[in-house]
Amino acid sequence: TAITMVDPEGALVSIDPTMPTNSPNRAFRINELKTEVTNRLAMLEKRVELEGLKVVEIEKCKNDLKKLRDEMTSRGGGRSMIQIRDVPSYPKYTLSQETIEALKKPTFDVWHWEHNEMLSCLEYMYHDLGLVKEFNMNPITLKRWLLGIQENYRSNPFHNFRHCFCVSQMMYGMINLCNLPEKMTLTDMGILMTAAVCHDLDHPGYNNTYQINARTELAVRYNDISPLENHHCAVAFQILSLPECNIFANVELEAYKQIRQAIITLILATDMARHGEILDSFKHKVDSFDFTNEEHVTCLKMVLIKCCDISNEVRPTEVAEPWVDCLLEEYFMQSDREKTEGLPVAPFMDRDKVTKPTAQIGFIKFVLIPMFETVMKLFPQIEEIMVQPLRDSRDHYEELKQIDDAMTEKKKTENMSLGGKKK
Ligand SMILES: [Zn+2]
Repeated sequence: TAITMVDPEGALVSIDPTMPTNSPNRAFRINELKTEVTNRLAMLEKRVELEGLKVVEIEKCKNDLKKLRDEMTSRGGGRSMIQIRDVPSYPKYTLSQETIEALKKPTFDVWHWEHNEMLSCLEYMYHDLGLVKEFNMNPITLKRWLLGIQENYRSNPFHNFRHCFCVSQMMYGMINLCNLPEKMTLTDMGILMTAAVCHDLDHPGYNNTYQINARTELAVRYNDISPLENHHCAVAFQILSLPECNIFANVELEAYKQIRQAIITLILATDMARHGEILDSFKHKVDSFDFTNEEHVTCLKMVLIKCCDISNEVRPTEVAEPWVDCLLEEYFMQSDREKTEGLPVAPFMDRDKVTKPTAQIGFIKFVLIPMFETVMKLFPQIEEIMVQPLRDSRDHYEELKQIDDAMTEKKKTENMSLGGKKK
């Protein structure tokens, strides 16, 4: 039931970058296979001892055994879950000047690009921000790390590699628009970008509420405390723990510890269950914001990654709207499953209760606009480029809702008059 392609060194070869990563089931299968092979090896070794085969044969047998063992240990190494294509399969894209300019803006068309092109864009951002230089990154390691990232996003309707790209591109845009490198350190830029790139790694497509209610492995592992965000973060550091993918390999130990802590803080901040708490904390600081105060800067970084994570409605309607369909598709997948499993269903995920305008209006009015307007106090330049599109989008969905409502009203009266005629 499983086909594995390996190169002469025994490393797994990915057939197609768009293929979903292996499920844990397959990892278990590998483990089972390993146990079986180990048992057989032990039996063979025993036979060699007991039956006293000819010396030459024994030597040959021993060599074969040793080879097998070496092969198994070199393949083991806990890499069954994380697979990374090697760099040669990642064609070089030269970005046009037009693309480079567009990349800095929220108007960038994120639907226009295939995976390899998005990888090239992300690579460019790290070079352009001076992060490759600052952290003394090996450029090939950066490429391999990005491949590793892409392969560890699943092909969910919403929480997929394109969403990762959107969030990272918006972060790059905000860094530029708000002139963050003038106010914060390059380490901060590295933390912001890397947290954005990693923030939804290996998202299973079902949210924390589902994880907790269904008592999934993730919920049990993380004691119901932000199970998904903890997992995204753990996968991020599993990838960084591979020497060939460690973009921070040349960073001093103390600096690395600080970067790791900060990335964890930012990824954990993307749990929307903590939205109120984080925004309140930022509101208390924003009027007397101090860029030399570490606590203030950490809080700002948390709010920035939150902004980017839910920033689709900042984008032009034609870019933003398909994301609503993707999100609803993922929500409906969850609510359908919850119904069959007898778990509670949130109304905003229920296909019988939610519509596109109702889903969007509340979110834009009560989550997005208040958060972006708070950030606007610190960076007034985001009003025209980010806040105004949000207000326009709110108005657009309110118009759609009015049309929806009028249609329902019309149907109602039609039914009523029909009923009257029957009488
Ligand atoms: Zn996200």
